[in-house]
Amino acid sequence: MTGSDGGGFAADALLRVRDPRTGRDERALAPPTRAGLADTLAALRHAQPAWEALGAAGRAAALRELAVQIALVQDELVEALGHDTGRRTESVMEVQAVLGGLARWGAAPTETGGAAAGAPTALPWITARSAERPYQLAAVISPWNFPLLLGTIDLIPALAAGCAAVVKPSEVTPRFLAPLRRALDAVPALAPVVALVEGGAEVGAALVDAADVVCFTGSVATGRAVAERAARAFVPAHLELGGKDAAIVLPGADLQRAASAILWGATANAGQSCLSIERVYVHRKVFDEFTGLLCDRADALGLAWPDLDAGGIGPLIDPAQAAVIREHLDDAYEQGAHALVGGTVEELGGGLWCRPTVLTAVHHGMRVMAEETFGPIVPLMSVYDTDEAVRLANDTSYGLSAAVFAADEDAALAVARRLDAGAVSVNDAGLTAFVHDAEKNSFGMSGLGGSRMGAASIRRFVRRQAFLVNNGPKDDPWWWDAAPR
Ligand code: NAD
Repeated sequence: MTGSDGGGFAADALLRVRDPRTGRDERALAPPTRAGLADTLAALRHAQPAWEALGAAGRAAALRELAVQIALVQDELVEALGHDTGRRTESVMEVQAVLGGLARWGAAPTETGGAAAGAPTALPWITARSAERPYQLAAVISPWNFPLLLGTIDLIPALAAGCAAVVKPSEVTPRFLAPLRRALDAVPALAPVVALVEGGAEVGAALVDAADVVCFTGSVATGRAVAERAARAFVPAHLELGGKDAAIVLPGADLQRAASAILWGATANAGQSCLSIERVYVHRKVFDEFTGLLCDRADALGLAWPDLDAGGIGPLIDPAQAAVIREHLDDAYEQGAHALVGGTVEELGGGLWCRPTVLTAVHHGMRVMAEETFGPIVPLMSVYDTDEAVRLANDTSYGLSAAVFAADEDAALAVARRLDAGAVSVNDAGLTAFVHDAEKNSFGMSGLGGSRMGAASIRRFVRRQAFLVNNGPKDDPWWWDAAPR
C-alpha cells in the first residue's frame, strides 16, 4: 500500500525514481502509510529485546551470516545500484565496502553487557559495575550518492550494539532495498530487527519523531532540520553532512602522485562524494608543473557513455545537483575563472554528465570555492607559501576532510595538524572512503555527534549504566537515623 491515502505521506508518494543515464522516470516511490510505518516500528521494538539478549557474540555471528547472504546477492545489488546511479565501478566498491564493514563488526564483537567485577570507588565500601544498554530503535537516514554504503554504514554498528534499526535511503536511489531485504530475510535472527522503508522528507521526519537515536547523512540544510526535530523529540542525532575538502600541494611532493590522487579524489563517483577534493592550493613553485600533470590526466578520463564501461565518469545522479554545478560554473566564469579541461554540464541520451573540469583564476568570492559543488570540478589556486595554503584551506564553514602532499610524511603531518578538518589524508586523497578504522569527528558544518569511524563508533548506540553496590557497614554516615526526627 502506498502513502497516497489520507493516512499516508502524500508528498512522498508523488516522488518518482529516475534513471540517471536516460533521464526517464521509471516508477513511483513506494512509501508506507503512516499506520503501516507505525506497525513496522512497533514490530521492531517488539523484536529488539531478543536481539539484545543474543549478546555481542551472537549478534556478531548474525552479522557474519549477513555477509555471506550479501555476497550471494552482490550481482543484484550492483545492478540495482547501477540502475539508480548510472555507474558500475563505484557500485562494486560499495558492495565491497559493506562486506568490509560486516567483516570488521562480525570479527570483533564488542561486549556491551558490562564489567563483570566491581571497580573500587572513592568510598572503600562501595564498588561500581557498569553496563552499556543499546537504544531500542535506531533510524538511519541516508543520501543518494553512495546508496548502499551510506544506508548500511551506521546500520551495522547499530545492530552490533543491540539496537533494532530502520533504514530510509534517499528517494532518488532506493532500488538496492529489494536485494538487501532478501539478504536480511535469509538471516533469521536479523530479519525481525531491520526495517527498510522507501520515502522522502516526510517519512524521514516521521522516523526522527519515532526513533530513540538518529544517524543522518546528507546535506547541511537537511541535517539542521533533522537536528532541530531530534532536539524536540529529545533524541540524539549523529550528523554526517557536506564538505568542501581542500588539498594542499607543496614543493618536494611527488607531483605525479599528487596529480593522480587529487584527480581521483575530486572526480571519483563524478565528484558526488562528501569527501571529494573541491579546492586545490598549490605552491607557486610547483603550480605550473602540477597543473600540466593534472590536466593531462583529467583530459584522458572518459565518460561512462554510451556504455557503462566506456569511461570512468558516470552521470550526474540528481538533476537538482546538476543545476547547482551549472550555477557554480556560471558564477565562476562570470567572475573570470576559466576551464583548462572540461567545463560544462552536457546532456547525453537524456542523462546529465560533466567531464572532469580543471578551473584556474578562481578566488574565494566564487561559489565554486565556498559552497559544496558535488561535481567533478577541480579548482586550482596558486599560493605564495604554506601559511597562505593553510589559511585558505581553513577559510570555510565545512571541515569534513582534507589532503596534504609534501616532501615527506613529517613535512605533510606538520601542515595536516594545522587544518580544521576531521580527517586528513597524507600524500593521498579521500582515504576515508576506504579506511574506516580511525576515529574522527567532522568539524564545522560538516557534522555533529560521535565518530562514525573506528571501533568507538558503536558508542553512539549505547547508553552507559552504572551499578553502585554498597558492601559496607549497616549504617552509612549520610543515612537518616533509624528513628526519624
Ligand atoms: P539530503 O539532505 O537532501 O537528503 C538526505 C536524506 O534526508 C534523504 O534520505 C532525504 O529523503 C532525507 N530528508 C530530506 N528532508 C528530510 C527531513 N526534513 N527530515 C528527515 N529526513 C529528510 O542529501 P542528498 O542530496 O541526498 O545527499 C547529498 C548530501 O549528502 C551532500 O551534501 C553530501 O555532502 C552529503 N553527504 C555527506 C556524507 C558524510 O559522510 N559526511 C556522505 C555522503 C553524502
